[in-house]
Amino acid sequence: MNILFMGPPGAGKGTQAERIVDQFAVPHISTGDAFRLAMKQGTPMGLKAKEYVDQGLLVPDEITNGIVRDRLLQDDCSKGFLLDGFPRTLQQAEALDGMLADMGRSLDHVINLKVDRGLLLARLTGRRICKSCGSTYHVLNNPPKQEGICDKCGGELYQRSDDNEEKVGTRLDEYISKTAPLLSYYEGKSLLREVDGEQDIDVVTAEIVSVLRGSN
Ligand code: ADP
Ligand code: AMP
Repeated sequence: MNILFMGPPGAGKGTQAERIVDQFAVPHISTGDAFRLAMKQGTPMGLKAKEYVDQGLLVPDEITNGIVRDRLLQDDCSKGFLLDGFPRTLQQAEALDGMLADMGRSLDHVINLKVDRGLLLARLTGRRICKSCGSTYHVLNNPPKQEGICDKCGGELYQRSDDNEEKVGTRLDEYISKTAPLLSYYEGKSLLREVDGEQDIDVVTAEIVSVLRGSN
């Protein structure tokens, strides 16, 4: 199953992806995670991406498209994938269509997690992530049992450097000007399904599962 999650930063894409990949046995492909790893490793691509990520701006399409193309060709994607955070521009969406067409594949589901902009700042500034396994928490909405420690692996939780008020403002502006127009692109292909991302995390998961199973 070839799945794409859309929605603004903080909508809950990563949180839901963690749960959906377990149930549907497809790999989670997050371009944001790929950039953070490359930045941490200090690779040439990571250093280039850092110039943009640190400012809350989108990384240029040619860099981003290359990462996704390489990732989709790996063996574990042969039975499907869950894309989170890509595509974010019309050029990326067209490039993705081209990559999939070259592989004789296409998207099965595009799910848009709808969350009002007013909620996103609090979600993003309260987000904490496990350094070891990448699990996502929120200091108020979804806290770990022990402060600062991952429930799943005992790893240390950290706050992303772009999850502060200033960067969040830029990231949301980038979303509105460059990514939100993609919703009509996928609507035009009759692929888009909306899920209310303001509901409890478990309720959102249940609705996504029923869309993916075709039962609603
Ligand atoms: P995205 O991947 O779309 O940027 P995340 O999944 O990282 O968003 O979620 C952003 C923050 O909001 C995290 O701290 C997460 O724990 C929290 N969160 C996710 N879904 C919900 C929800 N349905 N209700 C409340 N908080 C949520
Ligand atoms: P995310 O983890 O999805 O919130 O992404 C973090 C940052 O990585 C974004 O603010 C961008 O700088 C960069 N990024 C992630 N995905 C993309 C993409 N598809 N296109 C351009 N930049 C991206």
